[in-house]
Amino acid sequence: MKIIVLGAGVIGTTVAWYLNRDGHEVTVLDRQGGAGLETSFANGGQISACHAEPWANPTVLPKLARWLGREDAPLLFRWNRWDPALWAWGIRFLSNCTGKRARINTERTLRLALYSRACLQAIRAETGLSYDEQTRGILHFYRDGPQFDHARKAAAVMRAGGLPRFEKTPAECVEIEPALATVAGGLAGGIYTPDDESGDAYKFTVGLAERAAAAGVTFETGVTISAILGEGDRVTGIATDRGVRRADAYVLALGSYSPLFTRSLGFSLPIVPAKGYSITVPVGDHTGAPTVSITDDEHKIVYSRLGQRLRVAGTAEMAGWNTAPGPRRTKVLEDLARATFPDGGDYDRAEPWTGLRSVTPDSVPLLGPTPYGNLWLDTGHSTLGWTMACGSGKVVADLISGRTPEIATDGLTLSRFGRV
Ligand SMILES: Cc1cc2nc3c(=O)[nH]c(=O)nc-3n(C[C@H](O)[C@H](O)[C@H](O)COP(=O)(O)OP(=O)(O)OC[C@H]3O[C@@H](n4cnc5c(N)ncnc54)[C@H](O)[C@@H]3O)c2cc1C
Repeated sequence: MKIIVLGAGVIGTTVAWYLNRDGHEVTVLDRQGGAGLETSFANGGQISACHAEPWANPTVLPKLARWLGREDAPLLFRWNRWDPALWAWGIRFLSNCTGKRARINTERTLRLALYSRACLQAIRAETGLSYDEQTRGILHFYRDGPQFDHARKAAAVMRAGGLPRFEKTPAECVEIEPALATVAGGLAGGIYTPDDESGDAYKFTVGLAERAAAAGVTFETGVTISAILGEGDRVTGIATDRGVRRADAYVLALGSYSPLFTRSLGFSLPIVPAKGYSITVPVGDHTGAPTVSITDDEHKIVYSRLGQRLRVAGTAEMAGWNTAPGPRRTKVLEDLARATFPDGGDYDRAEPWTGLRSVTPDSVPLLGPTPYGNLWLDTGHSTLGWTMACGSGKVVADLISGRTPEIATDGLTLSRFGRV
């Protein structure tokens, strides 16, 4: 089959890789000059099944009230405009904030994240790709007792779902990652997930795209998609600034831009953009940068060691598709990093970045069929697109190729939202 993949982020590139292996003739379209140059470029680097707890959970509402209007809040909503799609998304988000919904959504994310981690390891073994990966686990730390108590409950749900996670005392946290010694005195405890990983999503995407291209995938870059053309219940082509591109099947993997392209087809995707920030700090001769990937859960900040660089990433700002950095948020990352890892690197030479997560109300992605028989989704990966990329690509390729995916897909498709 001839297949067009829309988008060459980590999601589009991995699905193209798997589709090519199934013998399809694959073309990937992207407006950038290469693969992985938008949200997949400088994210937190974590392969974190341990982050399966969704944003929408019972603890978030009191926090949102506390954070309202605070420029340094970990999650900031700027809902000062009338956008019906945004408000519809918000209502769905609120309805997912119950304990029961959070448990269901955690199970769905965990199912895909665990599968995806195994798929990533298989790709690594098969291709020999290296992308500054670290396989020393992820350690969450907590300063606040009640937050730690909540995290222990969430960890128990994940353990029951098949992810080993271990509670640690502050001293044990320092044994796992000695670079935490500076803050150990103020810690309530930590939770360690030894099987999770980290690595540079951009390096991985570029490396996999090169291998996919060598295997026959065409990457048409520098081409801007303007519309998906449909007739009846079939997509008939992709309108671009270089003319119309046609195939037998199409995969929508445009990240946070995906919902902009289904409206004209008569259905909507419950996805909103959430701007996140990172800084990349050269480590140089500094000896206090962690090598275990670290999460400061209360501030929603992650630290990943990528070779001779320390990536610090986090915070979310719901403010449309604007990628311009906010006045204080990069500084918040830098200040926290300096306080947590004072000798972590040359903070004066940190490179700032922002990217847009494509967030669904339940934090679970949208994989598989649409109302159009030959249009497939691989989008809405929220905070965990790097974690879930390989598994999502494999599931979607299996569905397109007429095979039953190796994990259940209930709760991962658009149909969970009913009529859209
Ligand atoms: C600050 C931050 C930290 C994060 N940390 C982590 C983490 O630690 N672990 C994790 O698992 N995930 C993390 N994520 C999430 C992860 O980065 C994303 O989920 C993932 O990169 C999404 O990949 P994607 O391919 O869907 O989107 P993208 O990488 O944005 O790819 C979409 C592609 O579509 C192309 N495109 C868009 N519109 C058009 C158009 N009109 N025409 C042509 N091309 C178009 C873009 O050029 C782009 O290449 C983080 C995100 C952020 C912002």
